[in-house]
Amino acid sequence: MSTLPGDRPIPTAPSTPEASGDGSVIPLHVLSAELIASVEDGPKRTSSLYGRRTALAAPEAQIEALDAVPLASGPSQSGSFHRDLMASGWEAGIQPAPLEIFQINIGKLCNMTCMHCHVDSGPDRVQENMDREAVDACLRAIDHIQAHPLGGGLHTVDLTGGAPELNPHFEYLVDECVARGLHVIDRCNLTILRVKRYRHLPEWFAERGVEVACSLPHYRKMGTDAQRGDGTYGKSIEALKMLNEAGYGQGDPKRVLTLVTNPVGSFLAGNQESLEGEWKEALQRNHGVQFDRLFALNNMPMSRYLEWLIEKGQLEGYMEKLLAAFNPGTIDGLMCRNTVSVGWDGKIYDCDFNQQLEMDAAVPFAHVGDFDLGAWQARTVKTERHCYGCTAGSGSSCGGATA
Ligand code: SF4
Ligand code: SF4
Repeated sequence: MSTLPGDRPIPTAPSTPEASGDGSVIPLHVLSAELIASVEDGPKRTSSLYGRRTALAAPEAQIEALDAVPLASGPSQSGSFHRDLMASGWEAGIQPAPLEIFQINIGKLCNMTCMHCHVDSGPDRVQENMDREAVDACLRAIDHIQAHPLGGGLHTVDLTGGAPELNPHFEYLVDECVARGLHVIDRCNLTILRVKRYRHLPEWFAERGVEVACSLPHYRKMGTDAQRGDGTYGKSIEALKMLNEAGYGQGDPKRVLTLVTNPVGSFLAGNQESLEGEWKEALQRNHGVQFDRLFALNNMPMSRYLEWLIEKGQLEGYMEKLLAAFNPGTIDGLMCRNTVSVGWDGKIYDCDFNQQLEMDAAVPFAHVGDFDLGAWQARTVKTERHCYGCTAGSGSSCGGATA
């Protein structure tokens, strides 16, 4: 194996195939080659930090870059997220609320390489895909939570990536979660539904009542293609039509179609409620496309978006905007309070952002196979400056605005 700066290993394509849930075999290196070919044919923007072996690929380099920004605004005038929490009535830091959501980042492999990706995903992230053993450990943890006196609030399994559909155990995992009576969300990039191997998924999701939460930066072509690569917009609209044809986006609680937008540039997300009306009108008028709800999220100052901010000389200005918009009213609804986040290798984190920065949760176990709900609920959430991305304006979590 080669190494990144700081001796971080570069993954190589696995030589052995992965078995899928239905017994068929999908060699991941073959899948990756297919995806790279489809990227050459369509959306093409950048490559992963990891693949380019940049110093910023290392989480500690990202945290250092944020810490180096001179900041003296916010409630404590210190640029310290922890002190701003204390100054906002959260003296002991962020404490958990009852656990409601079990989120699994099932792999970093993706058919796209979006400019703003906080996961640093792409077709080259072949190695980082959850194996069957870790999938089954997740299911055992869910069983543990559902049987626990503190676990009665768990209602949702949230599957993200990468493109989660690319994991060979994806359909098995969805079926097992549905069988446990849980609501399942698939965080879908839309374009994957146009790849031949995955075109059955809209109908397949509809049969199981899976909510599909789809990334679409803007209802116009220019903004979407600028952030996600040329050709993305057209493929996304085609995929949305496939979902509409499967019954999604028309108010059926078993066919929920959520769109997720994030700003194209270095500004904050607009008002979610008013944007939703504008989007519904524009997509219906221009394409006859319908959806149920819109989440408006801030871009997190990390990974490829952090690289973009640094290259454009806009990191300091963006962080100042986040601090100026710090809103204590967002903290109560942050996803780190009601969610557990599991990585592709089974390690657990406070949220998907802390996961990408490899900030281990403050609990006496590291792997989902050892998950203990009592200890999880007794922890304090770990925070750093990237957390200002969640607390700006109306707040920003996987479930949209928090205030
Ligand atoms: S933002 Fe989503 S679709 Fe884009 S590269 Fe990252 S995981 Fe893939
Ligand atoms: S990044 Fe957001 S969700 Fe994660 S710990 Fe920080 S405030 Fe919580």
